[in-house]
Amino acid sequence: MKKRFNSVNDSTMKALLWKGGLGFKSAFPVPEPSPGWALIKVSRAGICGTDLEIMKGYKSFKGVPGHEFTGKVVSAPEHEEWIGRRVAGEINIGCGRCAWCLGGKENHCPDRRVIGIAGLDGCMAEYCTLPVGNLIEIPDDISDDAAVFLEPLAAACRILDQIPLEGREKIIVLGDGCLGILSSWVLSTVVKDVHLLGRHGWKLEKARWRGMKTSLASQWSGEPVDIVVEATGSPDGIADALRLCRPLGTVMLKTTVSSQIGPSLTQAVVKEITIVGSRCGKMGKAINLINTFPDIPIELLVTAVYRLEQASEAFSLASGGPSLKVLFKIP
Ligand SMILES: [Zn+2]
Ligand SMILES: [Zn+2]
Repeated sequence: MKKRFNSVNDSTMKALLWKGGLGFKSAFPVPEPSPGWALIKVSRAGICGTDLEIMKGYKSFKGVPGHEFTGKVVSAPEHEEWIGRRVAGEINIGCGRCAWCLGGKENHCPDRRVIGIAGLDGCMAEYCTLPVGNLIEIPDDISDDAAVFLEPLAAACRILDQIPLEGREKIIVLGDGCLGILSSWVLSTVVKDVHLLGRHGWKLEKARWRGMKTSLASQWSGEPVDIVVEATGSPDGIADALRLCRPLGTVMLKTTVSSQIGPSLTQAVVKEITIVGSRCGKMGKAINLINTFPDIPIELLVTAVYRLEQASEAFSLASGGPSLKVLFKIP
């Protein structure tokens, strides 16, 4: 007899379900981990801009949303050494057979699934599943709240893999949401002149760390810079990024939107700007960054904590209200 996990009711769970409308389910089936996978009891789940885009049609996803989480492994067939460990998880699951997967680039597998985004139920539920190979153990000195940021912090760390930096560059990060702030923090660990431009004085205030400069975008009048990281979450951000970038500079795109309307790219041609798309990074790098800079003020970014039953309040604050990161505390 295979022992399953401890729970009041081991066949159903509380979960949010997106099916063109968002609903709270009090008795959704608990997922069953296949061999090589783990069942994780979720303790925190974060709402991210991608979740809000999914609700506008991004990726045509239907199912349990959510890809930013902290949890504990409660079952792991064939990998029992993981049971009881506190974990976060890499979100992409490649097919394991194609050239991308075999080359270690499963993030770009054409048949990949992404937890809570494409082909696999996410973490806005009491339990979620991921392959054991996607899990990363969270060190004791990183809190549950902070660990939810490992996924977006890894995405911010990805910038450092993609652009070689000398430290003397002038960089603008556009967008004072979580990803913009985390990106500017990551960059300010290697570059002196990082300027975060946003639209909200209170968010910019929370973002100040390591002598990084912040300004309201509407008041910015500086010279075009070497590198612009676009993290506004808005389709208009690219045009602003191209305007703020110097000729022969680099614009890095972090925004994914459901909207199909694109900006004019004429400025990219005229100024011969290199455009670099940037998505997910490795969580091990995010943990290293926190270990190296333990004063990184991640928990300041938590605006509110809700229960799953309060999903509509949580999502309305995350999408329209004054907020940075809105978390679910589960149960
Ligand atoms: Zn996200
Ligand atoms: Zn593959």
